[in-house]
Amino acid sequence: MAALHEGACALPAPAGCRVVPVPNKGYGMFTDMAYEAGKQVFMDEPVFLMQHTGNRRVVAACAHCCAFIGSLQHQLDVIFSESRFASIRSEFCGLCQQWQTDPFFHEVASALASNSVVRCVQGCGEVYCSEACRAAHFAHSHNLLCTGPIDREDHPLLRFKYHSLEHADTLLLAAQVLAHLINRAKASGGGVDVTRNLMSELLRFCHAPFRDACRAPPGRGKDADFFQHTDCLINEAAALLKAALEIHAPSETAALFEAGPAFFSEVLGLFEYNNIDVEVASPMGRIFLARAQALLSISQTPAATAELALLERLFREKEWVMKCVWGEETTGIYGDDVGPEAADFDMAMGGDVEDIEKFDAQVATTAMEKARIEVGKMTFEQLIQAPWPSLHGTALFASVARINHSCAPNLKVEFPMNSARLSAIALAPISPGSELCISYIGQGESVKVRRTKLLEYGFVCNCERCLQEDSSDVRKAQKRLK
Ligand SMILES: [Zn+2]
Ligand SMILES: [Zn+2]
Ligand SMILES: [Zn+2]
Repeated sequence: MAALHEGACALPAPAGCRVVPVPNKGYGMFTDMAYEAGKQVFMDEPVFLMQHTGNRRVVAACAHCCAFIGSLQHQLDVIFSESRFASIRSEFCGLCQQWQTDPFFHEVASALASNSVVRCVQGCGEVYCSEACRAAHFAHSHNLLCTGPIDREDHPLLRFKYHSLEHADTLLLAAQVLAHLINRAKASGGGVDVTRNLMSELLRFCHAPFRDACRAPPGRGKDADFFQHTDCLINEAAALLKAALEIHAPSETAALFEAGPAFFSEVLGLFEYNNIDVEVASPMGRIFLARAQALLSISQTPAATAELALLERLFREKEWVMKCVWGEETTGIYGDDVGPEAADFDMAMGGDVEDIEKFDAQVATTAMEKARIEVGKMTFEQLIQAPWPSLHGTALFASVARINHSCAPNLKVEFPMNSARLSAIALAPISPGSELCISYIGQGESVKVRRTKLLEYGFVCNCERCLQEDSSDVRKAQKRLK
């Protein structure tokens, strides 16, 4: 979202585009070129990026670029990490070894970014697709946020991480921002003033304190209780992060927290307005589809029949896991209301021991059995076509953050590669001098619902489509009154 900026200095823009002031909207992005529908307008890399914590339960991805990493076996070990899947895991392990002598294996190997997983040298458990990504992540912010060297439970960094995992994982992304600013400040001499300059540079993106920018909980307004809870959460997170960072960078940290938790809160609010969902498709589906089709097309030897049977068992198990865990936690996309079943599954599959004890286990068992029956009804064809879990994360892109909303957008964003590199695609012919617009929300809703949703971004939408639909609504109402 591109509103409310101070100062009209030149802002960076992708090649062929310009970021310029727009009346009532702050800034907007315009193009100087012509594009046909379906053509790529620009590509961009994220400034800050994070895989959702819940998504880590089903996808092993590079902590720096979000590429799927490791071998096929490695990805399956993540999806089937629970002990109840031990038998299917070991059966498939045997098949993977068989594939190593098969030409098909080369496709398997090349379809995933790399067969080796590069780990953080300090032993924190973070994983990467390459040495280059490991080094880049360390230099960006991980040097200050790595828990590898920590040996005491009450260290503020560990407590900050637990606090974030318990309450909101975007707190981890905000920590990344602060650590990155410290690194950049130190690279240009360090100190309070340098840090303050970098802070105000970042705040040239639309921002507000978190309590104002965040969504109200489903079915509830922002009442006094809500504000108290939110403030408490932010204050505690900010205090822990400050304690963790000042060990390494006392003067830069002093600048970041000179107004208490205010800057930290503005950064979280900035994410609320500007971040977009990142979704990278799994390469797994394509690999298994190709293998299953190859097996189906050859004459049915006993070995081929046995392998198909194993694949079918594997696909059914995967569908069951997906039905049980796939939802708001694994996608990071929170709907307006939570289906009771989704919450039940989540508790049963991923909740910690205490939660499960508190939870009515019978409800979860029933829900999981129901999922078993549904999966049992799927045909082999449906099973091989069903998607594998995609990577879900959230990211700030400097380009997209400058693009205004329209309910009839001329641009959409995609993640066509095995990484969080973004591709912006023209949805309609674009002529030179046009403003580029994306839709911040789903487009199927009525003008009334769209406007309500867009209020969360701090504006009333008066795009051409809204004005048109609004006036036809008024005409219909006038007709009814006659
Ligand atoms: Zn990477
Ligand atoms: Zn580390
Ligand atoms: Zn609109």
